[in-house]
Amino acid sequence: MLKGKIAKLAVSDVRFPTSLEQHGSDAMHANPDYSAAYVVIETDDGLKGYGITFTVGRGTEIVVCAVEALSTLVIGKTLEDIVSNFSGFYRCLTSDSQMRWIGPEKGVIQLASAAILNAIWDMWARAEGKPLWKLLVDMDPKQLIRCIDFRYITDALTEQEALNLLEKAKEGKQQREEEMLKEGYPAYTTSCAWLGYSDQQLTQLCSTALTEGWTKFKVKVGADLQDDIRRCSLIRKMIGPENSLMIDANQRWDVAEAISYVTKLAEFRPLWIEEPTCPDDILGHAAISKALAPLGIGVATGEQCHNRVMFKQFLQASALQFVQIDSCRVGSVNENLAIMLMAAKFRVPVCPHAGGVGLCELVQHLILFDYISVSASLENRMCEYVDHLHEHFKSPTVIRNAHYMPPKDPGFSSEMFDESVQKHQFPHGEVWRSILEKNGS
Ligand SMILES: [Mg+2]
Repeated sequence: MLKGKIAKLAVSDVRFPTSLEQHGSDAMHANPDYSAAYVVIETDDGLKGYGITFTVGRGTEIVVCAVEALSTLVIGKTLEDIVSNFSGFYRCLTSDSQMRWIGPEKGVIQLASAAILNAIWDMWARAEGKPLWKLLVDMDPKQLIRCIDFRYITDALTEQEALNLLEKAKEGKQQREEEMLKEGYPAYTTSCAWLGYSDQQLTQLCSTALTEGWTKFKVKVGADLQDDIRRCSLIRKMIGPENSLMIDANQRWDVAEAISYVTKLAEFRPLWIEEPTCPDDILGHAAISKALAPLGIGVATGEQCHNRVMFKQFLQASALQFVQIDSCRVGSVNENLAIMLMAAKFRVPVCPHAGGVGLCELVQHLILFDYISVSASLENRMCEYVDHLHEHFKSPTVIRNAHYMPPKDPGFSSEMFDESVQKHQFPHGEVWRSILEKNGS
């Protein structure tokens, strides 16, 4: 199954008009249209792989263009060529001697690499007939290590240390896998409190979520302090003192402003403040972490953290207390393996970012692997869940009692229905033609 040559790579600009109902609205992204650059690769013997990277509307066409530019590095290779030296292929894709100038390993070009690599991982898992999490869990530690490009991180984590972490976590692996299959991985919900929702909508969604068994809730903050005090107080009252509350400012503040603003929300006992300031400001996050520690509030970030080198520095500088990996922001599974292993070394919990379109589908595989094969702990750990757009995926997430149930279908859960892709193609799919006509453009 690994011998076929990758003969085709197709990429589509797929957008969902979520801004019409303010789903996904936060302090910096008032009207996102959840979107994806959607990649389909196919070998000459008919094996397919599906990959996405997540975007929020305008600009998706630029990611599509970057995927096309990278496609020459993939076409003609067999899956075996790629996975037998996966870190080598990762470096070839992310460090092409000319294209690296428009990165390296950051921004649009890294999103494009993620879409392609996600498709390759999906193809590999399909070829092995396993869901991706199980492919990873069953992989020999030495082979896992060979998927990681350790360049620039050996001052924090050497190959040998990574190997030792994986070897050590072999103990109890079987029980943890069985536990996950039975109970699932704990999740929290962000669906109740987008910034654009009215208090009435928020109250209603929160009360439904409580009856469904949710115990951990995230609230978007950062646009207006008085509004945030009202919304946090409303939610805290509804969920009671025992349940968890997290807050997310989506990069809204300067450092000092973040400290003073969050201090005023401390009475609602948030577990973390997410993305308080610029996602590149490692020392700023360190200052915020230090100032908020006495209040029992941690700092969480990662959804716009470029790469493993940034995560390394966040960890070295004690600038975050929760590592929020994202399945599409960095270089796919390869780079996330490095980040999860560094988090384990620094003993910082991984709590993935998800939502958007497809992010829940993909990242659940990574966090299951993290628990079973790396961290072996559920303490202070949970995976984000947002209840939008799952109906477009052939293997959608299954949530039971506020837990992600491990996917069973082979692959990375990244394949969308053809009809969904067709209808939502921008700008010529049926959904967009009618919206654009209405707007007179
Ligand atoms: Mg966030």
